[in-house]
Amino acid sequence: MKLKSLKSGSKGNASLVYTNNTKILVDCGISGKAVREAMEQIGISPEDIDGIVVTHEHNDHIRGIGVMMRRYDIPVYANSITWAAIMQNDLGKLNDKNIKIFEGTEPFVIGDININPFKIPHDAAFPVGYTFDDGKSRAAVATDMGMLTEEVFRAIGGCRDVLVEANHDINLLEMGSYPYPLKQRIRGSYGHLSNDDAAKATELLVRMGAENIMLGHLSEENNYPDLAYETVKTGLSQSGIEVNRDLVLSVVV
Ligand SMILES: [Zn+2]
Ligand SMILES: [Zn+2]
Repeated sequence: MKLKSLKSGSKGNASLVYTNNTKILVDCGISGKAVREAMEQIGISPEDIDGIVVTHEHNDHIRGIGVMMRRYDIPVYANSITWAAIMQNDLGKLNDKNIKIFEGTEPFVIGDININPFKIPHDAAFPVGYTFDDGKSRAAVATDMGMLTEEVFRAIGGCRDVLVEANHDINLLEMGSYPYPLKQRIRGSYGHLSNDDAAKATELLVRMGAENIMLGHLSEENNYPDLAYETVKTGLSQSGIEVNRDLVLSVVV
């Protein structure tokens, strides 16, 4: 099983989890065209997608789901509260048979991949992250979190591949042009993780068995890829964990 980010950040999010038999998109906050182009790079066509799982109803995660449902007849999975919130957006006509609803964080299966949603602290109706298990390895998508909780680590601990959030540098956010309430929202307990938080998370994840960490959901205003990478690498190094010896670390944008 592989986990690849197609697009990550405030402009839109979509990741692909796939085995030989099953292809799952996690969120689709980009256009149908952008999905196609990103998937072509890894040699998979959007027609092959078996389902889209949605983490929460913010625009950067759902913008493209209406198009994907109509154009490629793909089922979209979200919990009932998130679906109710998604319906408040104008995504065009949604085909009922492709609306797949689960309750809370109840596990479900798509093809040969077992999916476990878990609660994340974020300012949406009922936001979740997901872990994926094909019986050989586990992967997780854990972005849009205001803080690191025990519940999150219980869910994603032991995953080999993890997409974890490194949204902002605390100093850049502090000095940047965002209005004060927005700054408060981002650094609050239901906002987004900083690079320092990502370093802490990565350290714990590596100790629990992670081998491949992708840093994602970077703010375009308050972060940049080299800074996120170096902050996490330095933090790890201070805890005796070395990039390329103990894990593969990358930044996805
Ligand atoms: Zn969000
Ligand atoms: Zn987001």
